[in-house]
Amino acid sequence: MLSRLLNTKEDFHVHTSHNDHSAPDLNVASAVKYAEEIGLRTLAFTEHVRRESTWIDSYVDEIEKVDAKSNLKLITGFEAKILRDGSIDCLPRYSEAYFVIASFHTIYGNKEIWMNAIKNAIQNPDVNVIGHLAPEPTFYLDNKELIEISELLKDHDKIVELNAKYHRPPVDWVLKFKEYNVKFHLGSDAHSLKEIGDFRRIHRLVEIVCSNS
Ligand SMILES: [Zn+2]
Ligand SMILES: [Zn+2]
Repeated sequence: MLSRLLNTKEDFHVHTSHNDHSAPDLNVASAVKYAEEIGLRTLAFTEHVRRESTWIDSYVDEIEKVDAKSNLKLITGFEAKILRDGSIDCLPRYSEAYFVIASFHTIYGNKEIWMNAIKNAIQNPDVNVIGHLAPEPTFYLDNKELIEISELLKDHDKIVELNAKYHRPPVDWVLKFKEYNVKFHLGSDAHSLKEIGDFRRIHRLVEIVCSNS
């Protein structure tokens, strides 16, 4: 499906074997080859980063080398964890230079901490995208809180990811963000080759974003 609002030929969230839990055959070259075979046009590599990560320069080099020989549009990026205070677990020299998805990977167990953290992450100029956004299992946002997040996303020009691995955000959040003209894109969150560009599990979210209502 192609739409002014969403392009299913683009996958903005792909991991590589630079982390310790992806399939061993998932690397930059194999991901690009697979993406070309299935007709994707854009691929963003967004490996899990930490401030102490030591593999970053080789990862960036690997993407640059493959990019020189590929017809795909490749984006070099990172998925950075949103920390308790809303800062991100990525050194500024990388977050300033590359594409950054900020995601919650820790349950903080407290809505006040969560709200403060997400608001800080949205206001961080180095953050491009909020990944797999959803409430924690123990709380939900009321309408006023959801509007507050929607306005902040819009004001700071942040993209909300439709995440195929976790089916997020929830439908009512997607509807609210759409109402506030927040931008969306697609992320498979692939940790293996066959997951790249596969958005079938979130077809309902794609339809909601692309519908005219
Ligand atoms: Zn994640
Ligand atoms: Zn991820």
